[in-house]
Amino acid sequence: MKAFRLRQEMNGIEEPPGKTWFWELQAGVIDAGRCIQCGTCIAACPSNSIGIDEDTNLPELVKMCTGCSLCWDFCPRGGLRYEALWPPSTIGAETADGPVAAEGAVVRADAADTYWKITGGPPGDGLGAVIDSYAVRAGNRPDGAQDGGVVTALLIAALAGGEIDGALVTGPSDDPDEPWKGVAHLATTAKEITDAAGSYYNQTMALAELDLSRYDLPPKPRIAVVGTPCEIQGIRAMQSRRWPTGAHRIDAVVLTIALLCTKSFDYRGLMLQLLAEDRSIDIDRVSKVDVIRGRMIVEYRDGEVAVDEPVKNFHGAALKGCDECADFLGRSADLSVGSVGSMDGWSSVLVRSERGRRALDNARGRLDFRELDTPEALFRLDAFDKRIAFDSLRRSFDPDAPLFIDYAQHVADYEGTDRAPVVLDR
Ligand SMILES: Cc1cc2nc3c(=O)[nH]c(=O)nc-3n(C[C@H](O)[C@H](O)[C@H](O)COP(=O)(O)OP(=O)(O)OC[C@H]3O[C@@H](n4cnc5c(N)ncnc54)[C@H](O)[C@@H]3O)c2cc1C
Ligand code: SF4
Ligand code: SF4
Repeated sequence: MKAFRLRQEMNGIEEPPGKTWFWELQAGVIDAGRCIQCGTCIAACPSNSIGIDEDTNLPELVKMCTGCSLCWDFCPRGGLRYEALWPPSTIGAETADGPVAAEGAVVRADAADTYWKITGGPPGDGLGAVIDSYAVRAGNRPDGAQDGGVVTALLIAALAGGEIDGALVTGPSDDPDEPWKGVAHLATTAKEITDAAGSYYNQTMALAELDLSRYDLPPKPRIAVVGTPCEIQGIRAMQSRRWPTGAHRIDAVVLTIALLCTKSFDYRGLMLQLLAEDRSIDIDRVSKVDVIRGRMIVEYRDGEVAVDEPVKNFHGAALKGCDECADFLGRSADLSVGSVGSMDGWSSVLVRSERGRRALDNARGRLDFRELDTPEALFRLDAFDKRIAFDSLRRSFDPDAPLFIDYAQHVADYEGTDRAPVVLDR
């Protein structure tokens, strides 16, 4: 293994005590199959010693490690784990109608608290800090938008208003061998932002792209980042602590938009194996992939539904590290956006900070607003997500521990109703 080979090359230099090395991250997270490919470790490394292994899309050591421990400290599957500090009350209680946010679940808000430092927001209820919430759609919904096209419209408005110089988004790979692979890049024009509309169900090591040196930007760039909640966790954690940064411009991030997320997938496992190979899906004809109401839905450009199956059939390609994640709602972001809670063609938007509110206000002329259709669905899926994380954590200590979730009961609860289970048996 490359990292250990490098370590051996360093032999002869005595390891000072109290150091944490990259190979600790490698053993505890990457080789343990827990990495969720957020790229935080790459962005955090002050000596730019971490790159991306082309074959696995996982972090690898490319230069000498100095043992500074920062990759470990900021890794959402390593030292960060700030969700572990959430008061258990926010898990929510079980009622006849399913789990709800616990009454009076208050997040501690004093500045010494790690939760507060990372989320930056005021005390919240079960959804975390929420100033406002809406169902929103773009008046002129861009082609390829996943739901209401809100993220795209917001970013274009921020760019047009001079609030940002670019946005870190995820668009389609231009490599013909990787159809429908999402790739992170900085979009600096409205067209580039629009071209990246829609959801790609793979992680992209997005924060590695915060090395902005290959983009033409002003000396003090201001960028927005659209990411899965774990990626926004990494940014907020890095922004809440001072350390000698490397090439990556954490300081340039002035707006964060989290996409609600219960899981992501390995690109090859999902698109090339389970869809193209096992189901003979012609990936070049695909216009949309969606994980919604517990189902994986794949549509072709001519409107044909190519796949409509329970998402559990695709769990073999899901990232194992996502099971540990308890941040479906993207609590550290300025804005959280997803489909759950709103009718089709609209996006649910949770405004979590003044920066988020300003960004939404700036785009107001481009957007339609209404109340969330089913806010309780957000509580329900969040509670379910946290329980999976709780089970996953417990099983990591004791593989035989009884599960907190009664999965069979969860699915049975929905049988004979007009509601679909938010996540099917996993
Ligand atoms: C992996 C994943 C899992 C999700 N799971 C849920 C869920 O369980 N429940 C739910 O309600 N919503 C979920 N979403 C969010 C949902 O699919 C939409 O992204 C959201 O509703 C915004 O839609 P929109 O039409 O407003 O955005 P659009 O205008 O279509 O813009 C979407 C933006 O997301 C960016 N993007 C696309 N893929 C990625 C990616 N992999 N990583 C980072 N950025 C990306 C695009 O670049 C674009 O800027 C998930 C999204 C992803 C990527
Ligand atoms: S989870 Fe993120 S920070 Fe941790 S090893 Fe993987 S890419 Fe790096
Ligand atoms: S489920 Fe959690 S860990 Fe997995 S991609 Fe989504 S936010 Fe990241």
